[in-house]
Order: sequence, then C-alpha cells, then structure tokens
Amino acid sequence: MTEMSDPIIIAGAGIVGAAIAFELSRRGRKVVLIDRQEPGRGASFGNMASIAINGFDAVSRPSTWKKIPFWLANPVAPVAADPLYAWRMVPWFLRFLRAGTSSRIREIEDAGASLATRSLEDLRLMLSLLGADHMLSETSCLCVFGSESEYRAGQGNLEMMGRYGLKYEILRGAEIQDREPLLTREIQHAALLPDNHFVSNPFELVGRLVAAMQSHGGTLVRGEVADVERDNGLVTGVRLTDGRTIAGSKVALTLGVHTRELAGRLAEPIPLETERGYHTQIMAPGIDLKWSIIWPERAFMITPTAGGIRVGGSVEMAGLERAPNWRRARILVDHAKFALPGLKVENAEEWMGHRPALPDTIPVISASARHPGLYYATGHGHLGLTYSATTANIMADMMTGEAPAVDMRPFRVNRF
Ligand SMILES: Cc1cc2nc3c(=O)[nH]c(=O)nc-3n(C[C@H](O)[C@H](O)[C@H](O)COP(=O)(O)OP(=O)(O)OC[C@H]3O[C@@H](n4cnc5c(N)ncnc54)[C@H](O)[C@@H]3O)c2cc1C
Repeated sequence: MTEMSDPIIIAGAGIVGAAIAFELSRRGRKVVLIDRQEPGRGASFGNMASIAINGFDAVSRPSTWKKIPFWLANPVAPVAADPLYAWRMVPWFLRFLRAGTSSRIREIEDAGASLATRSLEDLRLMLSLLGADHMLSETSCLCVFGSESEYRAGQGNLEMMGRYGLKYEILRGAEIQDREPLLTREIQHAALLPDNHFVSNPFELVGRLVAAMQSHGGTLVRGEVADVERDNGLVTGVRLTDGRTIAGSKVALTLGVHTRELAGRLAEPIPLETERGYHTQIMAPGIDLKWSIIWPERAFMITPTAGGIRVGGSVEMAGLERAPNWRRARILVDHAKFALPGLKVENAEEWMGHRPALPDTIPVISASARHPGLYYATGHGHLGLTYSATTANIMADMMTGEAPAVDMRPFRVNRF
C-alpha cells in the first residue's frame, strides 16, 4: 500500500487533532480527520486564547494541598468540586497527590519546559504557514497580584520561568497602569510576561487548520468514532457508531477528555478527568483592552479577543454530565469588573468546556504501548492551545518514523 492510499487517521478535531492533521498533510501525508461535531467545538472553542508559556508548573504540591479545604468550603473559590461527583474522582485525586513529591515536581516542570520553551516559536511558524500571522497579538500578558502576599505566592512561578530561561519583568505601582491604564489602582504588583501572547480567536484557528489540511488533500469526516479496528494485533482503521469503517494503518486518538473512553476499551487506561472551565464573551465591553490579564490567585483571565473581551477560567470538578453552574462564570465577571472598573457587561454569552486533565498535568503524546499503529495526543489540560503546534510537530515526527526533538519519555501513555 502507498502512503497516499493508506491515510493517517486523526480522530478528534480540536486544536490538538487539527494541528496534527495540518502538519501531517503539510508534510505530504494523506490524512483523514474525524469529528462528531464541527471542528473546534470542544474545549478548543472557548479557551482563553493565551499562549501561556509560563503555565507548566506542577499543580500538585503542598502549597496547593493546603488550599483545598478553603476551596471546598467557599462557594466563590477558584476551584470547586461537586460533592456527588467527588467520590468518583478518588483514584484520580490519589494520583494527583502522588505527583506532588519534590522529585516528581522537578520532573513535571522539566517535561513541561521541554514543550513550553518551544511553543511560541512553533506556533508562530504554524500561523505563518496558515497565512494567519495577524492572529497572534502584538501585546502579551500582565500577571497581576492583588496584595503583597499574593505577590510572594507568585514568586515560585517566576523563579521557575527564570530557571528555564523564560523572560518576565516585575512592575510596581504606577508602572502597571502606565502599561494598561484600564487596570484598577488597587493592583500594585504585577509581572509582565512578554512572550505570553494570545490569539484573536481560538475557534477560527481550528477552522483555518482544517481548511489548510483539506487544501493539502486531507479529508474531514463527520462521525463518531466507536472503536479502533485491529487485525492480528495491528491497527487497520476505525469504526464509527453509524457502522462505517475507515481504513488506515496509523490512527491517532485526539479526542480531548473523551479519549478516556476509547483508551479504556483498548485496555490502555488513561486517567483523564474533566476540569470544567467557564468563559463569558462580552461583545460590548465599552473599553479597549490592549493586554491580556491573568490573576493567578483568583484563577481567571481577561483576554481581548476578536469578538470583544473574554473573561474566563475557574476549575470545577463535576464530571461530563452535570449541567453548567453559570454562577461560576459570573464570579469571574465580578473579578474582572474589579480589575477593570470601566468594563461594561453588555451583549454577553456564557460558555462551559471540558479541559482534558491528567493528574500529573503532563499531556500524553505517545505511541500506544499495546497496539502498533495507534498513537495518543491528549491530556493537555490548561495548555492545549499553547502546546498545539509543538504537539503537532512531535506527533508528525513519531507517526512518520522521525525522531522528535523532545525527549518523549515523560509523555508516554503507560506511565500511570
Ligand atoms: C475555560 C478554559 C480556558 C482555557 N484557556 C486556555 C488558554 O488560554 N491557553 C491554552 O493553551 N489552553 C487553554 N485551555 C485548555 C485548552 O482549551 C484545551 O487544553 C484544549 O482545547 C484541548 O484540545 P483537544 O483538541 O485535546 O480537545 P477538544 O478541543 O475537546 O477536542 C476534542 C474533539 O474530539 C471530538 N470527539 C470526542 N469524542 C469523539 C468521538 N468518539 N468521535 C469523534 N469525535 C469525538 C470532540 O467533538 C472534539 O471536537 C482552556 C480551557 C478552558 C475550558
């Protein structure tokens, strides 16, 4: 069979799958990209658009554990868990705790840095190949701290950035409002993150990737993947829930949090959980914000996007089925109104999405350990957009028999 008659199948057209499909098609491979809905309608639709290259610090650590009782008791806390769902998360949570030893923290940060330090450059190249350089912001991100103690708590992240050669600049007092006059004067401590740019519209980016893949000869199929077909242990394609089969000897599962179901069926369990997050897209904000703002202690961001200002963040552990709790989105809007006193909330739309979260916060980017021809790219958590172009390069290397430029051991699927 020739490479063109044996397509590479990418199951799942979020930012991760679409970027991989684009990269493979650009390299001359025949690609079939499958999604059960319009590409980019999953978690990738409503993220905060940030290329958050500082966001790879290990989340599980003693300072986080200490906050858990406060979060659970406080309805406006940045992290919440549904008590009816929490018991189902016990195995995930135990793994999360195990990821918090000091040696593991360093390994997690080394692994994150191996992706994060390439992310911006890889994303710039991807956008340029798409003819979409204009989608990347000229400005970047202001990381704000509401008090001296919040600022001290933020030092760990800044020190980590310094350790891996990432740039930041400390701003104090009026220096902050000199950069972004819309920010309240109550904020006296901030760090400028000059390489944390943002894109104008994450959903549009997925659409552009898919269109470019199609222009390189790739095919988009609408359908729900039910299983990966195998013969004598080798991958032969995928079966859809409507009975269709699509043949191909290499398949990548890039189904975001839903990869869990298929991987489990293939006896290769991946402990994915949804970390539900919210945004409010404010179409008539009444202000012209230049920078994206992140407020780590309140776990939210404000990003000037193509369709107005987006306010979002929050972590809610409540599974895939439970209806959104829009109160969580409104808490973030209240925080945003405090940070930007001129913000008007008119013509606004709320959204909730499912971050694919792994307990050690490192994605799985890996060949299957059981099924030759099967690959996974999932579990990108809070950084799927940030890592998208880098993940695409790595996956395209792995799937075409080239050696990736990154040590892939930390990202293997059978590490759990
Ligand atoms: C509020 C919020 C803010 C965020 N902010 C940022 C940010 O600023 N920067 C950043 O880098 N990341 C951010 N993220 C994280 C980022 O959005 C995710 O990591 C990323 O979107 C994951 O992409 P994905 O392609 O793996 O998954 P998804 O986008 O969820 O895509 C998976 C796709 O698989 C399809 N699918 C599922 N099951 C099947 C099936 N059986 N058959 C066929 N198709 C199927 C779905 O329809 C979907 O299109 C944020 C997330 C949230 C929720």
